[in-house]
Amino acid sequence: MNTEKGNLSIHSENIFPIIKKWLYSDHDIFIRELISNASDAMTKLRKLDAMGEYSLEEEANFTVEILVDDKAKTITIKDTGIGMTDEEVKKYINQIAFSGAEDFLNMYKDKDNAEQIIGHFGLGFYSSFMVAETVEIHSLSYKDGAEPIHWSCDGGTEFELEAGTKTERGTDIILHISDDGKEFLNSWTLRTTIEKYCSFMPFEIFLTNVNEKPEKDEEGNIIVKEPSPLNNTTPLYLKKASECTPEEYKEFYRKTFNDFKEPLFWIHLNMDYPFRLKGILYFPRLGKEFDNMEGQIKLYNSQVFIADNIKEVIPEFLLLLKGVIDCPDLPLNVSRSFLQNDGFVKKISDYITKKVADKLKSLFKKDREAFEGYWGDIHPFIKFGALKDEKFFDKTKDILLFKSINGKYETLPEYLDANHKNHENKVYYVTDEVIQAQYVNMFKSHDMDAILMNHSIDQPFISHMEMKNQDVKFARIDADLTDTLKGESSHSEEDLKTLTEGLEKTFKKALNNENLKVQVETLKSEDISAIILLAEESRRMQDMTKMYGMMGMDMGAMNMPTDETLVLNSSNTLVKFIIDHKDDEAKESDVKLFCEQLYDLAMISHKPLDPNNMTAFINRSNKILEKLI
Ligand code: ADP
Repeated sequence: MNTEKGNLSIHSENIFPIIKKWLYSDHDIFIRELISNASDAMTKLRKLDAMGEYSLEEEANFTVEILVDDKAKTITIKDTGIGMTDEEVKKYINQIAFSGAEDFLNMYKDKDNAEQIIGHFGLGFYSSFMVAETVEIHSLSYKDGAEPIHWSCDGGTEFELEAGTKTERGTDIILHISDDGKEFLNSWTLRTTIEKYCSFMPFEIFLTNVNEKPEKDEEGNIIVKEPSPLNNTTPLYLKKASECTPEEYKEFYRKTFNDFKEPLFWIHLNMDYPFRLKGILYFPRLGKEFDNMEGQIKLYNSQVFIADNIKEVIPEFLLLLKGVIDCPDLPLNVSRSFLQNDGFVKKISDYITKKVADKLKSLFKKDREAFEGYWGDIHPFIKFGALKDEKFFDKTKDILLFKSINGKYETLPEYLDANHKNHENKVYYVTDEVIQAQYVNMFKSHDMDAILMNHSIDQPFISHMEMKNQDVKFARIDADLTDTLKGESSHSEEDLKTLTEGLEKTFKKALNNENLKVQVETLKSEDISAIILLAEESRRMQDMTKMYGMMGMDMGAMNMPTDETLVLNSSNTLVKFIIDHKDDEAKESDVKLFCEQLYDLAMISHKPLDPNNMTAFINRSNKILEKLI
């Protein structure tokens, strides 16, 4: 053939600057584009063979070979696919974006669409100019009598197409790497990039560093190593769920996410209609790392990686999971703005949500014990989902569990049923088992039940549960006193009033606190001297103020008076001492000591003391001990 020189047929000289400039931030995708082309070329040949239009040789070798030469500054991508004739090069390579050049020029200015442009306009091949100053193609088509071709272009609008030298069917793309792409001449960088985009590609990919010195044994003989592919051509999610073993699921998880903690369980997704989607979602084991709940969902298109954690396709709360989703019906180059407005994408997201909810429900029904075992790990995820997604909440509301202070796991109706005699439609909860131990013990000793709500998601979740169950109220265990905890009072109402007023006066004076509220009760447990109660609403307000304060907002205006009430147990010996001696001048200093100490003891069980109060408490405790000497 004659050497042909020409201009790339596009209206504009600007295409390369555009590619270089606008696509720069993602310039590693050139590897995905070129390997995808190689893979497509081999898939096409297989199809031709299957259709009887071509007869493949017995031992057809379908692999993608990548050679990196840091001395010559080249990266070569070799395939044994259908190859291209000179006509095809003219048509597919030279006429860049021939179908949509005008559109292209209008769109390129919009940087957000950069990724989409590549796929949409068939510019995959040209992404190579993001890292190369010159690109060469050596190709030999599968067609009978085809002549090898050689094409080269230095990134301007001129190309050269001439007879080539390739003797075997397929295509070699040689990239002469520019300064912009020199990081990819490092074979480790190149390898990780290939692994990022192509780890499930359907053809084996081999990487060779041509300048790497071969390893030798002690006698100086070259150690021949069996080359190993960089990818797994048959990722587990392609198989039917019924054909996969738990060990395989775990191994796939380990390899894909480099996470050596075993996943709790998994969901195998597989659907053909109305769209094609396959994948595996794993529930990772969180253990104690509550706050480090970062999942990873990798999205693929026909085994080619698109991106991680695309919020538009995967509902946000599912991003706490780890998994792989392959959807051949999604465009390879997804741009966020496209996805947000796409009804199809919404369907995918709904399907995934439904599948996850179904799986959780069936686990609950089939094996509640196992489900309870998982609850510690999965509850933040389920609660987050319930908060974020109405449909998910509806589907999972009957399987939401609460762990009780007695170690049981109960659903809301189960808890309410079991406790309705003591307190109807009221759920008591504990946010800190250590600090609130006194209340917890009080509950336990009277056969009462409270649930543990000690995760950061629990406060918003409680509000959500109250909104969804209008007649149910949640109250922290130190919010009020139920009748179950109170014993028979020996005081008449009148007596009690006088007693309360007297004690309040004594405490106000002793503590020098005019705002103090005192309530006198006769508790069943005699050993409890005093407790602090704080009405649920007031405490929620306080928590909120604290939270806003931590977020750096000035809450000066919202500095509310505290609504805490000091409950004194009139059946307790220490309280009795105060009652008996509060008007005894000779005992005034002892009474003051008692008041201060009882107040602090009650406070400690309610919330941590501030440094000044803590110091005072310790000094006073020492003084009390000295009295024993
Ligand atoms: P797209 O792959 O999106 O069509 P590209 O710019 O990547 O766009 O490639 C344009 C065309 O060039 C491909 O559709 C294909 O026909 C041809 N082509 C590219 N690379 C190869 C290859 N390695 N082997 C055979 N044909 C190729």
